[in-house]
Amino acid sequence: MVFLNGKFIEKNQAHISVMDRGFLFGDGVYEVIPVYNNKIFRLNAHLLRLQTGLDSVKIKNPYNLKEWGDILSKLLGFYNNQEQSIYLQISRGVSNKRKHSFSNLTPTVYIESNPLLTKTKQAFKAGFSAITQPDIRWHRCDIKSISLLANVMYSQQAKEKNVEEVILYRDNQVTEGATSNVFIIKDGTLFTHPTGVHILSGITRDLVLESARACHIPIKKVSFSMDELNAADELWISSSTREIMPITQVDGKLINRGNIGNAWSCVYSYYQSLKNA
Ligand code: PLP
Repeated sequence: MVFLNGKFIEKNQAHISVMDRGFLFGDGVYEVIPVYNNKIFRLNAHLLRLQTGLDSVKIKNPYNLKEWGDILSKLLGFYNNQEQSIYLQISRGVSNKRKHSFSNLTPTVYIESNPLLTKTKQAFKAGFSAITQPDIRWHRCDIKSISLLANVMYSQQAKEKNVEEVILYRDNQVTEGATSNVFIIKDGTLFTHPTGVHILSGITRDLVLESARACHIPIKKVSFSMDELNAADELWISSSTREIMPITQVDGKLINRGNIGNAWSCVYSYYQSLKNA
């Protein structure tokens, strides 16, 4: 079952107009929200980011917090899996003429949920690989926009190179991953790009910072260079579906001689306790 514009229906019955601005322009925003033990994880933080994104692109939020909560709970009721990944998309809606500018439309709301396939700690312990690429995206990466062409191309590259992620840099400073936030540990301190227009303020990023504080790891929200990335003691990526992943190889070079680090182990364990709280 999926949710489309107020109705719970079978996915193969869910259709939208070709005049939907999401289809024609990629004009909309989205959220991906994990569910653990049947509980939506950090729902308010996701709904707050959704609201910020909608405000940025002048789409009216069709539901209030309680209504969103009720819709998502009802949708999850159709699934048996306790671990889910909710995909929620709002586009500006359907207009009768294809025109870049817009008038007031009724937003199209689509939600689906799929089993969340989290990797085990054992799998994480092997570490993952990444490659780097210049960040060619626009200067509003803080908006979780459904226009994802650059990210799509990066992710395809990652697939073709058989690596987990593409790590992006702008003016030689690491921004984030194509679908994740990026962190390094250097001499015991955690570094991550500050929030602003060049990264998405990840909900998991906040959880990584919360976990790092619990592990008494000093945090610097400042950007770091490509050289600093290559010389890092540890390198991680984070996202709602991947949690916190240790990257032990970048562009074919080993990080921490190919081993995951102690800081990651502590932060990952604390994150697990947050999930199960
Ligand atoms: N940055 C980008 C570009 C992303 O696409 C994502 C997630 O999809 C993230 C960061 C991580 O965000 P979150 O932790 O909220 O999933």
